[in-house]
Formats: sequence, C-alpha cells, structure tokens
Amino acid sequence: MTTDPTVLVVGGGATGAGVARDLALRDVDVMLVDRDGLASGTSGRSHGLLHSGARYAEADLESAEECLAENRILKDIAGACIRDTGGLFVRLAEDNEDYFERKMAACNAAGIEVQRLDGDEAREQVAGLSDDVVEAFRVPDRVVYPSRLVAANAADAEAHGAAVRPHTPVTDVTVSNERIDSVELGGDVDGTVRPEIVVNAAGAWAGQLAEMAGATVGMAPSRGVMVAVEYDDLEPVLNRCREPDDGDIIVPHEGEVVLGTTSVPVDDPDEYDRPDWEVERSVSECAAMLPSVADARTVRTWWGVRPLYAPDEAGSDRRGISRGFTVIDHADEGVSGLVSVVGGKLTTYRRMAEVTADRVCAGLGIDATCETATRRLPAVDDTERLDELVGQYGGANPTDSSTVGTTTAVDE
Ligand SMILES: Cc1cc2nc3c(=O)[nH]c(=O)nc-3n(C[C@H](O)[C@H](O)[C@H](O)COP(=O)(O)OP(=O)(O)OC[C@H]3O[C@@H](n4cnc5c(N)ncnc54)[C@H](O)[C@@H]3O)c2cc1C
Repeated sequence: MTTDPTVLVVGGGATGAGVARDLALRDVDVMLVDRDGLASGTSGRSHGLLHSGARYAEADLESAEECLAENRILKDIAGACIRDTGGLFVRLAEDNEDYFERKMAACNAAGIEVQRLDGDEAREQVAGLSDDVVEAFRVPDRVVYPSRLVAANAADAEAHGAAVRPHTPVTDVTVSNERIDSVELGGDVDGTVRPEIVVNAAGAWAGQLAEMAGATVGMAPSRGVMVAVEYDDLEPVLNRCREPDDGDIIVPHEGEVVLGTTSVPVDDPDEYDRPDWEVERSVSECAAMLPSVADARTVRTWWGVRPLYAPDEAGSDRRGISRGFTVIDHADEGVSGLVSVVGGKLTTYRRMAEVTADRVCAGLGIDATCETATRRLPAVDDTERLDELVGQYGGANPTDSSTVGTTTAVDE
C-alpha cells in the first residue's frame, strides 16, 4: 500500500533528486518517482562537465555567475561526485581573436578566475594538444559524475523520510475543481496517490507530464551526441573558444575522454534520429583540439536531450536558448498544486531545487530555510558506499559508467 505524500516529485534526475532532498531536509513529506532508474534521463547522458560558467560568460552573465556559485558549492559538499580537473579554453589559428578577448573579459566580469597561456605554455600543460592552438586560458571547470550525485541526493532525501521510487512512471494525472486531485503511478508502485503538490521535474519530458494535467510547458528539446574514446592522458577539460558550435568540448573521464556535442531540435525526447554525421562531426571537431582522439578506440556512443524551455522558441539549433531555469506555478492556468521546474544545467541543479522548494514551501505555508548549500552530501567520502547507492537506484549511466563501474545503459 502507498501512503499519500504531501509532495510528489516527478523525475529522478539531478533536479528532482535535488528537490526531494531539499524538501525532506525541511521536514516536508515527499515521494520521488522516476519512470526508469535515477539519472537515466538527461542527467546521466551529459558530458559530466561541472561548468565554471566560462562557457556562458559573454552571452549570459547571470547563467555564468550561477554556474560559478554552484561549482564552488559542489566542491565543498559533493566529495567523490566530482573531480577537480580544471579546464582550458583554447583558440585555434582559425578562431576569432576578438571572441577570445571578449570571453576572457566576460569571465573576469563574472568573477571567474582565469589565467592566460600562450600556445606553447598550453601544450606544456596538455600533452598532445594541437599545434594549431595559438592561445588559451585556464578556468576552474571540474568533472561531475551524475549517477553518484543523484544517488547521494536521493539517499539523503530517504534518510530524512522521503520515499524514493525508481521504475515508477506517472501514467495519468487527474484535476478536479482546478486543483490536482490524484496521480496514477505504474511500475513498481502501481497505485494512486493524492499529493497536495506535484513538482514536475521531468526535464525534456516536462511538457508531456504537464499535458497529463491539462497544463502547458513550452519545451524546445534539443539532442546532442557524445562519444567516449579510450584516452588516458588528459587532465583538464578542453573547451574550444569560439561561438558555440558542434564538437566544442572534451571531458576527461576514467581511462577515456568524452567528446561532444551537437544541438539539433527534436519533437519527441524519446523518438528521434541518431545520424552518423553527428558522431563523425563531434569526433573530427574535437580532434582539431586533441588530434589523437580521431584514431582512438570508441568505447561508447550515446545521446542526450536538453530540457530547454522556450515558450517562444528562439534560434534554429536552439543553442541561443538561455541555460537559465524557470519555475512555473500552473495555478495561473487553472491547475493549482502543479509546479514545473525546467531548463537549467546539471551544474545548477541544487539552485534549481532550492528555488523550487522555496516555492513549494510558500504554497504549503511552511517556513523553513534551505540547508543544501552547506550540508555535505552523504557517502561522498566513501566511493564504495556511493557506488552501492548508485546500484540500488538503477545503476550507472553512460556519462560516468567508466568511473562508477556498475550497469551501463548505452544506445549506440
Ligand atoms: C548532450 C548534452 C550534454 C550536456 N552536458 C552537460 C554538462 O556537461 N554539464 C551540465 O551542467 N549540463 C549538461 N547538460 C545539461 C544537463 O544534462 C541537463 O540540463 C540536466 O541534466 C537536466 O536534469 P533534470 O533532472 O532536469 O532532467 P533529467 O535528468 O532528464 O530528469 C528527468 C527525469 O524525468 C523522468 N521522467 C520523464 N517522464 C516521466 C514520467 N512520466 N514519470 C516518471 N518519470 C518521468 C525521466 O526518466 C528523467 O530521468 C547536457 C545536456 C545534453 C543534452
């Protein structure tokens, strides 16, 4: 039998797990469900780059500052969920010099610590870096292991009274008198719950979930491919310093590097093409920075779908859509008790969760402050325990299966 939670959080990615943890720490009775394993959506299918904010600095200062603040918080609370690698923005001879200068100036304005290097200095720091690199600057990028991060959030939520239910899809939502009445859960739970508030943290699927309740969320999802190749020798994240384009990022993981990515609009986050050209282009563009990845053995290839929110969709490849996040209270369209949180980044999940939990608590008349910025996540100093938790919640995902080393889901 399932008891009715006060809050049902739909979506066990970083955002939903973060909301569940935040609410549980504020003593709210919460249930977290995902249709598959935790982090099996976009969170576990990203590059695993904990952004310093430099990537967004010149185009979206607010997102850059948000990334920087969260990057610093996670460094303190997330232990083995992250790795301190640093990052480099590199300019090739063919890349625009003004853009490089603008990016560095914008990083300074955002408070991101940068260090300028000439091409030779960069090559001394990164074995195998292309001879075409003419200059670079260091940034405080890090690597994040999303399966671990999500598991640690979920475990803390459970330790504070939450029910965590992977393999539990929401199949229907009923609304009565302009208020959420009940939610049908399939899979492992297979029953009906009557929460006071439903948090829609379903990422790229948030529009579909809202639709079940007769509400609207204007999602503009876009897919991207990632290719993991065998490579042992890269320490910092490599970012191409040019206007965002395909194949701009190389992220070092255990015994491999992850090359990516592309940005192509999709109508349905489950059914979309996976063309070879995106794979080939990501590899060849990344090889412009680190030539030997072109011949390295491919270990895994996978796709992820960005949960971009754009009620008035902008830009042909959706790269121009803000990486900021939005919290929507659907009471405004006649569905009280439904709150959606969309957009954002894996890097900013904790802040997204905080703002959402503030909104939920205000709705419930609960006066409790957020503790997640200072409270260390559980098990993050014990990788064995952490990886047991990952296994318990559905296993590792493509981004970090080389590190976490449990079940791998790939869709090559
Ligand atoms: C190619 C690519 C690379 C990226 N790289 C990075 C990066 O390096 N760094 C970074 O910070 N960000 C990156 N991002 C962005 C980042 O991954 C996402 O913004 C973030 O992970 C979204 O997390 P989320 O929890 O909101 O969504 P998700 O992780 O997608 O979680 C939503 C969950 O909802 C579940 N769900 C859906 N429908 C239902 C239902 N009916 N019932 C129950 N559950 C349901 C899904 O199974 C899913 O697990 C990348 C994105 C892409 C596409």
